[in-house]
Amino acid sequence: MPLVNGFKIIDLIKERHVVAGAFNTTNLETTIGILNAVERSGIPAFIQIAPTNISISGYEYIYDMVARKAATMDTPVTLHLDHGKSFESVRSATQAGFGSIMTDNAKYDYEENVLHTAAAVEYAKGYGIPVEAELGAIAGKEDDDVTNGNGKTNPEQVIDFVERTGVDLLAVAVGNVHGLNLDPNIDFPLLKKIHEICPVPLVLHGASGIPDDQIAEMVNNGVIKINVASDLRTAYIQAGGKDYEEEPDRFDLVNVALDAEKAVEEVVYKKIHVMNMNASATVQ
Ligand SMILES: [Zn+2]
Repeated sequence: MPLVNGFKIIDLIKERHVVAGAFNTTNLETTIGILNAVERSGIPAFIQIAPTNISISGYEYIYDMVARKAATMDTPVTLHLDHGKSFESVRSATQAGFGSIMTDNAKYDYEENVLHTAAAVEYAKGYGIPVEAELGAIAGKEDDDVTNGNGKTNPEQVIDFVERTGVDLLAVAVGNVHGLNLDPNIDFPLLKKIHEICPVPLVLHGASGIPDDQIAEMVNNGVIKINVASDLRTAYIQAGGKDYEEEPDRFDLVNVALDAEKAVEEVVYKKIHVMNMNASATVQ
């Protein structure tokens, strides 16, 4: 089917009481690997890209590539902008046809975050697509961007933030970290507190390093979207490295690309299973 609007994914996920994986792509092989796994699982999903990864292709290229693959699938997929840190990135992704966006203004203080987020929501509303925003600052290395410190989401700001910005999804900082270099430690009491009061569904970033049993508990805590990037990239790079080590003189790029694609597919498929271990619907 054609790529769907992000609101459609949100509705399907809530209806089925499952969790959507949100997997970061970079290029063709990553895209095919992710979407093959999504199709096998039967669980609607987000495929996403951050502006840092756009630099090697462009929003239109990514859109065309993802749309072409999605058209061959039965499982609904939306294309989402991950960590749009500038209005320009939000605008470019939206105009390229993305079905969902994240506006990331976590670098600003609270009031400025509200203003920038509300502006992005206002813009996206004209295109009828959902907006995700981050409250608090998720620590760690997110592509080339390193965020220091522990800026957990302040539950006292949640209702005010959601009401004043009009966001559709809230990304929380509850001990989750970006990348694989820090030890994540999910603060479940804080997550539960946010879930109880938050008017919109929650998003968890940085799922790569989080233990499976904690990932599996997200479905019971209002989280409907879980972002995974580092694990896919590790699988991709390791597959290429292994091919090279085994046969350094083979220079068979097709073989390396296919092995990387397969490695990404397996990681994504496993992650979808883990996310939905405690969900009511079963994963194929
Ligand atoms: Zn993130």
